[in-house]
Amino acid sequence: MKISKNVLRYLFGRGTFNQLGELIQPLRKAAESKVVFFIDHFFRGKDLVKKLPSLQQDEIRFIDTTDEPKTPVMNRIADEFRRFPEGQIVAVVGIGGGATMDTAKAISNLLTNEGPAEQYQGWDLVKKPGIHKIGVPTLSGTGAESSRTCVMTNPVNGLKLGMNSDHTIYDQLLLDPDLTVTVPRNQYFYTGLDTYIHCIESLSGRNRHMLADAFSHEANRLSRKVFLESDMQEEANREALMAASYLGGCAIANSFVGVIHPFSAGLSVVLGLHHGIANCIAMLGMEEFYPREYTEFMTMVERQNVDIPRGVCKDLSDEQFDALYQSTVIHEKPLSNALGNDFKSILTPQKVKQIFLKM
Ligand code: NAD
Ligand code: ZN
Repeated sequence: MKISKNVLRYLFGRGTFNQLGELIQPLRKAAESKVVFFIDHFFRGKDLVKKLPSLQQDEIRFIDTTDEPKTPVMNRIADEFRRFPEGQIVAVVGIGGGATMDTAKAISNLLTNEGPAEQYQGWDLVKKPGIHKIGVPTLSGTGAESSRTCVMTNPVNGLKLGMNSDHTIYDQLLLDPDLTVTVPRNQYFYTGLDTYIHCIESLSGRNRHMLADAFSHEANRLSRKVFLESDMQEEANREALMAASYLGGCAIANSFVGVIHPFSAGLSVVLGLHHGIANCIAMLGMEEFYPREYTEFMTMVERQNVDIPRGVCKDLSDEQFDALYQSTVIHEKPLSNALGNDFKSILTPQKVKQIFLKM
């Protein structure tokens, strides 16, 4: 058993974005104190930017989330900010979906820990606390706001792994459901389902305890309400999904994922699909592992009338299937959590190919 840490302080509710300044102000110890805002590029030129409590000396960086975070980009941004004198940057604020929130977490850590991002991909490698981190999700589902990791890919060796560390957890969160009103319908579903998927995997795993289960059960109760009843994007449902996402992040900090995330990771590595959509595609092949949840997922898709691409693996070459197999079974911890240490006797190359062909 390892000791768990959660986000220490958070503010939840519609309109709380207006209070961001109250969170930041006490951190400005000197006239030249600087705050760095990382904001998803969707918000460029939007009202949200006008409402930022930024001062002239602050830095605002829009993050292009066309691609998910990569280590060279993290290193470039970190080097840019490392030129400021120690102590001058007093807060790093991440405003966006999982990609932007993860970027902010990584840069905060890199500003106090020297060397490249690749050096910290793994478990408990970050030595010192980063710069004070404030997270502001604008898209609910990944749980990046409450988790202890920030996922990034090293394009040289293909390793997609975060800085799993207590130092990666946000110091403060501002959870304002009004910020998710502009999310496109399919994206809202793909990312929102990440919480539900994390929780069904951890609830059917072997490494569990009652508190982690409690986080997962409540996150899934809220997710079911959002995706099975009426319109997932109406006001009350956006609020419920933001709460579910936070709880899902807490759940996963105390448990492991299962079969779905490794297959989803395979799709991301080999076909370049983003995390949320890859999870939903992976669900199409999961009937035998999660029969009840598979049926429930298909009902959600139908009820919310969203598009899940099909047949994405039907024309792949043998080499691509081999790459899919390798990048799936490499995830030993979650697969053992779901199927036991002998998981490779169940997930043979032939079997894995059959599952991908169902998607
Ligand atoms: P994302 O951050 O990649 O954003 C997806 C799209 O939504 C982008 O086009 C973005 O511009 C848009 N968007 C975001 N907010 C919007 C808004 N309010 N209105 C309109 N458009 C908006 O998506 P995501 O699914 O939240 O995050 C995926 C990333 O999170 C991946 O990199 C994944 O690896 C990572 N992740 C991290 C954790 C963790 O614990 N740290 C967990 C799961 C996934
Ligand atoms: Zn996930």
